[in-house]
Formats: sequence, structure tokens, C-alpha cells
Amino acid sequence: MRLSKMHIKTLREVPNEAEISSHILLLRTGMIRKLVSGVYGFMPLGWRSVRKIEDIVREEMDAKGAQEIHMSAVQPAELWQESGRWYAYGPELWRLKDRNGRDFCLGPTHEEIFTDIIRNDVNSYRQLPLNLYQIQNKYRDEARPRFGLMRSREFIMKDAYSFDKDYEGLDISYKEMYDAYTNVFNRCGLYFRPVAADTGAIGGSGSHEFTAFAEVGESEIAYCEHCDMAATTERADVKDDPADSAEMMPMEEVNTPGTKTIEEVANFLGLDKKQTIKALLFVKYDELGNEDGYVAAFVRGDRELNMIKLVNALDIPEHAIAFADEEKMAAATGCVGGFTGPVGLHDCTIVVDSELTGMRNLCAGACKKDYHIKNVNYGRDYTGDIVRDIKTLKEGDPCPVCGAPVKHTRGIEVGQVFKLGTKYSEPMGAYYKDENQEDQLIVMGCYGIGVTRTLAAVVEQHHDDNGIIWPMSVAPYHVIVTLVKPDDSVQAEIAERIYGELAKAGVEVLLDDRDERPGVKFKDADLLGIPVRITVGRGAAEGSVEYKLRRESEKTDMSIEGAIAAAIKIVNEERSGR
Ligand code: ATP
Ligand code: MG
Repeated sequence: MRLSKMHIKTLREVPNEAEISSHILLLRTGMIRKLVSGVYGFMPLGWRSVRKIEDIVREEMDAKGAQEIHMSAVQPAELWQESGRWYAYGPELWRLKDRNGRDFCLGPTHEEIFTDIIRNDVNSYRQLPLNLYQIQNKYRDEARPRFGLMRSREFIMKDAYSFDKDYEGLDISYKEMYDAYTNVFNRCGLYFRPVAADTGAIGGSGSHEFTAFAEVGESEIAYCEHCDMAATTERADVKDDPADSAEMMPMEEVNTPGTKTIEEVANFLGLDKKQTIKALLFVKYDELGNEDGYVAAFVRGDRELNMIKLVNALDIPEHAIAFADEEKMAAATGCVGGFTGPVGLHDCTIVVDSELTGMRNLCAGACKKDYHIKNVNYGRDYTGDIVRDIKTLKEGDPCPVCGAPVKHTRGIEVGQVFKLGTKYSEPMGAYYKDENQEDQLIVMGCYGIGVTRTLAAVVEQHHDDNGIIWPMSVAPYHVIVTLVKPDDSVQAEIAERIYGELAKAGVEVLLDDRDERPGVKFKDADLLGIPVRITVGRGAAEGSVEYKLRRESEKTDMSIEGAIAAAIKIVNEERSGR
């Protein structure tokens, strides 16, 4: 491709709303184009890289025996009502009506659709196992679309669904997808780690997120350097502190004027935060959006509540709970803003962190303004409607597996695999007949890769101050031939020759034949991040060109044939990413 003919518009100015490198660079290179918030189009170079990632995904999926199909993004509400997700998915589901008033959504994911296909098409155990996938646009009306392709409202996802006779089969299918994902992200040049994850709105029994390391990532990961524990902080188990064997002391009400926070009350009474109980107050909403009762959650004063664990404990979707209006809640439950404790609270669901049951003589709010109670004990003074680990694993806390202090890091979730079990086959009635002609539920898994998010993650991990540094496997072109002076006939002839020979050898090559100053061409080549640059300039008359890899700083003068051979060699070594 000749750059002079290519439809490309690079930007000199960094767009205001772009905060992170990948977003800035994908816009500056003109690879993506914003339409409205969270909705992007792809220009020629951007689309080439998207297709490279798609091809890697296809190769690895096909290698595991998965079969590609293509479903519509338009999905009828009835299927989502059957699975229960028309409500559970909440405001992220992009809903629409047809001219007759029938409800539809634009698919954020396709469990319902694939389950529907399989319940119609599969009768016998002989047809299982089966793995179907597609690469297709997904729609999620995200509350905060940001970071360009990272969190957009329309994005490309590869989604796959496995169908097995039993859980042993699911384990095999899951492992195959786990391995395929490992290959995909390795081949895309990402530094990543699979970590144990929460199952979120998709549901099911087990899950891993594939997380590409990046400071700007929205996933927080807890990991251990002593064992192989790695989990999102949403999901990570927390070891309860060992139970205290102290004798229970009588409760004692103490005047604690103005001490609303744990910090203040602990300082005021000369206590460690570990000797206090922290209260968090919420209101629930029902399917129609009406208030549906209050929730009080209690954790030890030095702990943080984990919202994901709380909604899982309550068995409600994330969007069905919000912080309570304290005055309204006070009238109904006896809580008192800043002075709420489990003693004296009524008419609300009390969720107690499991650790509190073993602690003795803690200090909690008295449900009375300016008062706390000392020596509050679980079992004697209060109980919980739900007792569960609802706290967050913090950096330095003991690893839930081996006890060593855990570390935190951040990353970008580029893919996720789920063991769904019968979460969809049961409500939607997806059965097969076993060897004895008896109906059995199909056991499912589902597996997603954010193709466009992966593109952004690659840029996030591979760039410098001058621009992108594409790994060969996902680069829009492998080589750029920079013709310094297009009106110099010797230079032009040599550049054309290199361009032609590389193309003949199957190398994807760009020829910068634009009538621009050399400085502009070098800047653009660095910005675009093409892995190999061959510069045809002053030395051309003597048969010498300059060879440079984008990822290295040194340049080498080579013969024309030498540069062609070096380029073909490195492209062939690295193009598959294997
Ligand atoms: P997140 O927690 O980041 O919102 P998710 O867990 O809801 O993502 P999944 O349902 O697991 O996402 O979707 C599969 C993959 O699709 C994700 O691993 C991610 O790579 C990609 N993805 C999800 N939401 C978006 C989005 N808004 N923009 C771009 N890619 C996305
Ligand atoms: Mg996910």
C-alpha cells in the first residue's frame, strides 16, 4: 500500500477526552474514529489490526474444534425473559422496540441465543460435546464508557459456548478454552495472567479472567508470590482472623459525641480499629424499581466491605442495591447515621461478615445519637440473617491459600471463561437424551474475548513517547519503506524495488511515497509503530539503505538485498506471534 493513496488522517493534537496512552495513540494514528461517546469506527490501519486479532482468535478456536457461526445482534426479549436476565441484566442492556411494540435488545452477550439453538438442534448424547463461537458486535449501555476501546458501548467480542453431557465434559471443554485463550493472548504479544474471577451477571460456578497487566487497568488483582493464588479483588476469599477466646464482658453504653467514623470513635475511645464494627446501610429495589427493604452490612472496623460479595450473598443483581437515605432508613429500622450498630436494629436484612462471629467485645454504634456500645458479641447480643465473607482482600492481608502477605496489581480484563453448568439449560429447558433414552440437562460453559479491548491493551503495553510499537502479529503492516525524496529518481526506483520484492515475498508493506518533509515521515513512521522501517535516502546512490526496528533504537546501514532479506526473515519469524 502506498501511503500517498491511503485514507489516513493522523492528528497532531491530543484529543482532550483521551486520558490513557492507548486511547490517545489510537486516535492520533487515525486508526479509530469516535462517533459518539463509547461508539467508535475503524479506519483502514485500525481495521487491519482488528482483523489480525480476529484471525489469531479464529485459528486458536478452530484448533480446539470450535465451530464458527454468526448470529444477529438483535435479540427478542422473550428469550431473556425465559432466562430471567431481562430484569437481572439491568440498565446496561440496550433495549428497543419494533414498530409493533415488541421488545428486543441488542445483544451484550449471547447465552440465551445459543442455548435456544442447542435446545432445538440437539437431541442425543451422540451430538455432544459441541463448541460454537462467533466474532460479532456487542452492545452494552455502559454507565461510564471511557478509555476509548477499553470500555465502549459497542465493541467486538468473540463469544463461544460449550455444550457437554456432564460436568467432567465441561471441565475438559473449559480447559481447552483456557489453553486457547493463553495461546491467543501470547500470540497478540500481551503480558497477562489468568486469575480466578467472580461470575457476575453471566452466572455459574467457576471462572477465570485473563488480565493484561497495566497501571490503567480497571481490574484489581490480588496475587501471592509464594503460591499461585491470583484472583480479582472482587472475587478473592479473605481468611478470617482466628477467633478470640476472651470472655464476653457485659455491654456498656458510652457517650461518644460527634464520632461518626470508625477512625474517630477508635481514637476517642483509645481502641484499635480491629476492636470496632463498621456498618454500611443500603436500600434494595425490586424488578419495578420500587424500594424493597433495607440492608445493613457489618464488617470489622479495619476491613472494607466488598460490594460484589454482598450482592452475591443477597442473591440480587448489582443494580438492585444502592446506599440508603439514612433518614428514611432510620424511621423504618432504628438506625442512626454514624451511630448504627447491629444491636437495636430492626426490620432490615442484617448481613454479618463471617469474621465478626469469632471476635469478642467489639465496639459498635448504639443506634442512638452520640452513643456507642462496648463489648458487643455475636450470638449473645446480635445475629445476622446472612453470615458470609463480605470483605475485601487488601494488600498485605494473608493469602487465603498459603498465608503469605498478598500483593495487588492492576490489569485490563481481555477475556473471561465461565463454567455455567445448567444456569441456562435449566430455565430454558435444554435437554439431551442419554444412552438410556432419559432426558438430561446440557452442561454449558461460555467464553469471551474482547477483540477491540485486546487491541487497546496491546497498544497500552507496547508504546513509547513517539507512538505505538506493534508486535509483528497484530501490526497493520509489517514493514514501512520510507522514501526520503520522492523526486530523486534513484531513491524512488530503489524504494519501488524494495516495496515490490517485499510484497512478492508475502510481506505486508507500506511505501511512504508522500511529498512530505523527511522529519514528518520519520515522525509518522514512529507514531504508526510499523515494526520494521527501511529508509531509502542519501546512501541509495551507493546501494545503501537504513534498516531499523521500531522497538530498538539503533539503525543499521545495509545493502538493498541485505535489508530485504533481513526484513523477510524477521517478519516470517514473528508474524504468527507463536
Ligand atoms: P467488565 O468487567 O470489564 O465490564 P465483563 O466482565 O462484563 O467486563 P464479559 O461479559 O466477561 O465482560 O465479556 C467478555 C469480554 O468482552 C471481556 O473480557 C472484555 O474483554 C470484553 N468487554 C466487556 N465489556 C466491554 C466493553 N464495554 N468494551 C469493550 N470490551 C468489553
Ligand atoms: Mg468479564
